[in-house]
Amino acid sequence: MKAAGFDLHHVRVDAGPLKHAMELNTAYLLKLDADRLLSRFREYAGLTPKAAHYEGWESRGISGHTLGHYLSGCALMYAATGNEELKQRADYVTQELKVCQDSHGNGYVSGIPRGRELFEEIKAGDIRSQGFDLNGGWVPLYTMHKLFAGLRDAYTLTGNRLALEVEIRLGEWLEDICAGLTEEQMQQVLHCEFGGMNEVLTDLAEHSGDGRFLKLAERFYHGEVLNDISEEKDTLAGRHANTQIPKIIGAARQFEASGEPKYADITRFFWDRVVHHHSYVIGGNSYNEHFGEPDQLNDRLGEGTCETCNTYNMLKLTRHMFQWDALAHYADYYERAMFNHILASQNPTDGSVCYFVSLEMGGQKSFNSQFEDFTCCVGSSMESHSLYGSAIYFHQDRNLFVNQYVPSTVQWKELGVTLQQETCFPQEATGRLTVHTDNQVQFTLQIRCPYWAEKGMSIKVNGEALPVNAPSSTYISLTREWQDGDVVEYDIPMTVRVEAMPDNPKRVAFMYGPQVLAADYEYAMSVKERELPAVLIGTPEDIAARITPAGEQLYHLTDRGSDVYFRPFYSLYDHRYTVYFDVFTPEEWTQTEAEYRKSAAYQARLEEITIDFMQPAEMQPERDHEFEGEHVNLGRIYNRKYRDTWPSGWFSFEMKVHPDAPVSLAVTYLKTSDPKIRFHMEADGMRLGQGLLESEELNQLETFIYDLPETITAGKDKIRIRFVAAGGYKVAPVAGVRTVKRESLLPL
Ligand SMILES: [Zn+2]
Repeated sequence: MKAAGFDLHHVRVDAGPLKHAMELNTAYLLKLDADRLLSRFREYAGLTPKAAHYEGWESRGISGHTLGHYLSGCALMYAATGNEELKQRADYVTQELKVCQDSHGNGYVSGIPRGRELFEEIKAGDIRSQGFDLNGGWVPLYTMHKLFAGLRDAYTLTGNRLALEVEIRLGEWLEDICAGLTEEQMQQVLHCEFGGMNEVLTDLAEHSGDGRFLKLAERFYHGEVLNDISEEKDTLAGRHANTQIPKIIGAARQFEASGEPKYADITRFFWDRVVHHHSYVIGGNSYNEHFGEPDQLNDRLGEGTCETCNTYNMLKLTRHMFQWDALAHYADYYERAMFNHILASQNPTDGSVCYFVSLEMGGQKSFNSQFEDFTCCVGSSMESHSLYGSAIYFHQDRNLFVNQYVPSTVQWKELGVTLQQETCFPQEATGRLTVHTDNQVQFTLQIRCPYWAEKGMSIKVNGEALPVNAPSSTYISLTREWQDGDVVEYDIPMTVRVEAMPDNPKRVAFMYGPQVLAADYEYAMSVKERELPAVLIGTPEDIAARITPAGEQLYHLTDRGSDVYFRPFYSLYDHRYTVYFDVFTPEEWTQTEAEYRKSAAYQARLEEITIDFMQPAEMQPERDHEFEGEHVNLGRIYNRKYRDTWPSGWFSFEMKVHPDAPVSLAVTYLKTSDPKIRFHMEADGMRLGQGLLESEELNQLETFIYDLPETITAGKDKIRIRFVAAGGYKVAPVAGVRTVKRESLLPL
C-alpha cells in the first residue's frame, strides 16, 4: 500500500458545485420516508408495515435495494457533514432491520418478494438462474449486496454496533444457504447478477474477525467472467457492464485481505480495459447498460450511454487502486469521471439524477423522478453525492497527496496538521493551500499535475515562485518544515483540447481543462444548425484553437458564420446539447452535406414516428415489455443482440400502439441460411403472416414492415406480439422490433 484514504469524518467539502450537489442530496435523503423504504421488510417478516412501499422499482421484484443504498447514503453523508439527523435515520433503519430479522428468526432479512422461499430452494439445490433472474426473483443477491453494504457503512461510519450484529447474522444465514452447494451449483447461482457479494463478505470478515466470511467471499468468484480477465482477455463485449464492475471491486478487496496476486491482476487488467478501451470522454462506459467491442464507440452514441451506477462503481474501484500504487493517472480518471459524469448526472435545481447520461448528438439529459422511480442509479447516487470528500486527499507516512482540486479542509490527525484548500475549480484551475499546525512539522506535499496540463503548472510557496517542471500525470513534491500559515498557490493554465473517438478521428469532443464542453442548443445557436445534430467545419485542432472563453461557464466558436456556445457538460440540465461533433473539411462537407442532412432528417423523423422500440435479449427492455417464451434462445452477432428459438419454441412481448391511428410494426431480422426456420407472427392472437425465411446473404440485418389491421390496435395502448415456430421448426433471429405511426417514410 502506497497511500491511505482519509476517514470521511476528517474531510469537509467547503464550497463549489460539489458542495451544492451534497446539499441537494442531503435534502433528498431527509425527504425520503424510511418507513416506506422499510415497508416490505416488515411485510415479509410478518409484521405490519408502518407505511406503504414506494412505487417504481420499489414495487417490483428488486424492492429493498433502495434501503441498502439509503442506509449507506445516510451513513456516508453523516460522516461527510456531521449532520446528526442523518445518523438518526441510519440508527432507525438499523433498529428496524433488527426487529425484522428477529421476526424471521433465522438471520434472514430483506424486502425481496418471495425472497426467503427462493433462497430455501437454492439451498436445496433447486437453482434456476439466468442473467437477471434467479428462481423467479429479480437479482435477489444484488439486492442483498446493497443491504450488506448499508449495514457495513452504518457500522464503520456511524459506529453503530447493532448494524454489525445484524450483518453478522445475515452473513451466517447466507453461509448456511451456500454451505451444501457444490462449486458447480455456486457458479450456476452466480450466473445471475449478484453485485459485489465478494466485496461485502471480505469486509465482514475484517469487521467481525471471523475468517468464515472470507471463505464465503471466495465462493462468490464468478469463473465465467473473471477467468478470462485473469488471463488478460477482454471478453467484455456484450456483457452487462454494471453486473461485472462490482465483482472486480470484490476482487480488489480480496487482494487487500489476502495478498493473493491473482486478484490484483484481475483488478488492474479490468480497470485498464474499461478506462482506456470502453469509456467515453465523460469517463462513463456502456451503451444500453452493456459493454461493446473494445475501442468501438463511434456507433454507440444515444440516449442509453453511460449508466450512472457504472461510474459510481468505477470510482470506488479507482479509490482502491490509488491506494495500491499512488499513481497520478488514477486521480486523473477520478477527476474526469467525478466532474463530467457523476456531477453531470445530477439536476442542480432539485437533485434528481440520470439513469443514463445521454451522449446522443443533439440529445438531452433525462432525470428520474425522486419519489416514483427508485432505479438502481437513484440508489447509487445517494452514495455518489455523499462521497466527494473521499478521494480529494490521501496520505502515506509523511506524504500528503492533493489529488483533487476541490475547496475543502482535511484534518491529518497523525501529524496534527489541517490543510485548507480554496479554489473555484473546475471553472478555474488556480487555488491556494494553507497549512494549519500547532508545531512546525516536516512532510511532503504531493500536488497532482493533471493529464490536461499541456502548459504545465506553476507553484508559489508563501508568494515565492518555485521552479517546477512536472510532466502531466505526475506529482510535484514539496518537502519542507511546514509552519502554521504557510501558503502554497497553484496555477494550471487551461487549454481547449480535442479527444477523438478511438475508431473515428473525425468524431471528436472538446475539453477545456478538466471540463468536457457541450454545445448548448438553446443558447444562441442558429435554428438552421439545430437541425443538424453536430457538424463543425475545419480540422479538430483548428476548431479547438478557435473556441474561446466568453464569460462565466460559457465558451464561443464561430462556425460557418453562426455562433456556437459551449457550456461545461456538468452544468447543463434542461437544454439539448451535443458532446461529440462530426468534423469535416470544407471540401468534405460540400460533398457530404446533402447525404448527411438526409440521413439526419431520416433518423429524426424515425424517432418522431416511433411509438415503441424493443431490443430483444437485453434485460431492461425485455422486462419493460413483459417478455415471455418457451424454448427461447439468445445470441449476438456484430454487437447486435437477437432472440430466436429452439425447435417448436415461441416468444412474445408487449408493444405500445396508438389507440386511434394506424400503426405499423417494423421487425428487424438477422438473415440466416438455417433450413429449420419456419414461423409466423401474431398480434393480440391474430395471425399476421409469415416471417423472414432463409436467405443467401448471411448475417445481414433486414427490416420487414407489417401493417397492423386497425381492428387489432383500435382503442388499445398496447398489444402482445408473438413469434411462433411451426412444429419442429425455429423462429428466425429477431434483432429489434419497433411500432411506428404508419406513414410514407417507410420502408426502414
Ligand atoms: Zn444504475
